[in-house]
Amino acid sequence: MFTLPKLPYELTALEPHVSDKTLEFHYGKHHQAYIDNLNKLITGTNLEKETLENIILAAANDPEKAGIFNNAAQAYNHDFFWKGLRPTGGLMEPAPALLEVINKNFGSLGNFYGEFKKAATSVFGSGWVWLAKDGETLKIMKTANADTPLAHKLQPLWVLDVWEHAYYLDYQNRRADFIEAVLCNLINWEFVAANL
Ligand code: MN
Repeated sequence: MFTLPKLPYELTALEPHVSDKTLEFHYGKHHQAYIDNLNKLITGTNLEKETLENIILAAANDPEKAGIFNNAAQAYNHDFFWKGLRPTGGLMEPAPALLEVINKNFGSLGNFYGEFKKAATSVFGSGWVWLAKDGETLKIMKTANADTPLAHKLQPLWVLDVWEHAYYLDYQNRRADFIEAVLCNLINWEFVAANL
């Protein structure tokens, strides 16, 4: 059985960019619901004792396990998302070694921000935008609904949740403002570097 992983900061830690009200619902209700649903769906099955990663891989591309995949992937994606955000006041820029990798793959940090923002604003409906590693190449990828780079054998480095529940209480329909606020203020670059 899975339990909701502890949030690595207080509910108020991402203010003013993400409010405690948003975190209370997004983490406390939405993320919790994915965990609860997953536990219900795997109880009594051969996946009951597997790791989250193994459940995602076992359920990916199996239409009969779509419910398990959706809830397992959402549980994974949200935990990864929380860890990738930093309380305001931490390191603002990637360390030199990571910056070099970003420059090599995107030309500059500014280009990376621009490409990421473009991808995030163009997600139609619910989904996620990732910085992911494909072999030795870094790429920005969009996934719909619960889909996750793990299911495509890619290593995720960072993610932004662009489901409406991630920003609606704070930004209503202004998704671009939410994207801008997170990209400019909340990327935990040390987490990105650790995933490289
Ligand atoms: Mn979410």
